[in-house]
Amino acid sequence: MTSATAKKRILTGDRPTGKMHLGHYVGSMKNRVRLQDEYQCHFIVADLHTLTTKPEREHIAQLSDNIREMVIDYLAVGIDPARSAIYLQSAMPEIYELNLIFEMMITVARLERVPSLKDMAAAAHMDEGMPFGLLGYPVLQAADILLPRAHLVPVGKDNESHIEVTREIARRFNYLYGEVFPIPDVLIGDVPSLIGTDGQGKMSKSLNNAIYLSDDAETVNQKVRGMYTDPNRVRADIPGKVEGNPVFIYHDAFNPNVDEVNDLKERYVQGKVGDVEVKRKLAAAINAFLEPIRERRAYYVQRPDEIMDVLREGTRLHRAEAEATMGLVREAMGMFRL
Ligand code: ATP
Ligand code: MG
Repeated sequence: MTSATAKKRILTGDRPTGKMHLGHYVGSMKNRVRLQDEYQCHFIVADLHTLTTKPEREHIAQLSDNIREMVIDYLAVGIDPARSAIYLQSAMPEIYELNLIFEMMITVARLERVPSLKDMAAAAHMDEGMPFGLLGYPVLQAADILLPRAHLVPVGKDNESHIEVTREIARRFNYLYGEVFPIPDVLIGDVPSLIGTDGQGKMSKSLNNAIYLSDDAETVNQKVRGMYTDPNRVRADIPGKVEGNPVFIYHDAFNPNVDEVNDLKERYVQGKVGDVEVKRKLAAAINAFLEPIRERRAYYVQRPDEIMDVLREGTRLHRAEAEATMGLVREAMGMFRL
């Protein structure tokens, strides 16, 4: 990978708050893997972003394990470090610098209107109110995205409102100082927001409703057996509802055998198939999907040094891009130089 390529750039990534799940895959990772040739890709391990809701020492102590697991998940789904940079956010001094400049490009009132921030504050039980840094979450994200002057940001639906802030900041900067940044587009995955196994909300690390890329076959079988389906269907001969039914949402997302899925759907609405069969076939499909990922995971779990090398090399490559951008930023702003 060279930084002097004419390709357009992608920036996206995740907070290292735990292992990656099927929602991450369909929302964002699948697009990342697919677009690695077409774009120069930069994937962020956003450890500074975890501080916005989890600044306590006990959470920071978990970061090193989480970071390793996350990089393993990236490599296991097919992110190729020979083509794409996987880098550590906190190791990038330019992020802190650009974040500060961007804080001048947006109002507090605008950030207070970002819907997900209140939810995050509530979920994190922030009794003393919204931390300054959490309000600035989308500003820091704008610094992540615009530091490599990215054109495209593959994320799940819940991140769309954040990327809108990035676009506004880029426009504001360009208006004040001249065209430095592209206005990045959002790319939402096939399944914009995958529902959790509990059928209550989106699949999330923090809600105990996730199937992880690292789950073994028996764990997947168990989780699928316990999945929420059509609550009105207390017996197999009662006609069921396919639309909005998590089991069929997962079939559509992970079962490549379209004939099998259509047959199950037809029989389900007629009351001619039991949940047990629908779930058994779903678990088999998810396990078939996960099997090659598990194999690659097993390879990397044995090679912690390789994981660190990937992260170091990705960080080095990303930094070259970051330094170039900061040169442009300071020049455009006409900052005084010593
Ligand atoms: P946390 O519970 O710590 O917030 P999370 O599981 O919600 O974790 P994030 O780290 O917030 O995951 O999200 C990382 C990326 O994955 C984002 O682009 C987000 O939009 C996407 N994503 C997360 N969950 C889903 C989901 N259920 N469906 C589709 N995309 C998702
Ligand atoms: Mg989240």
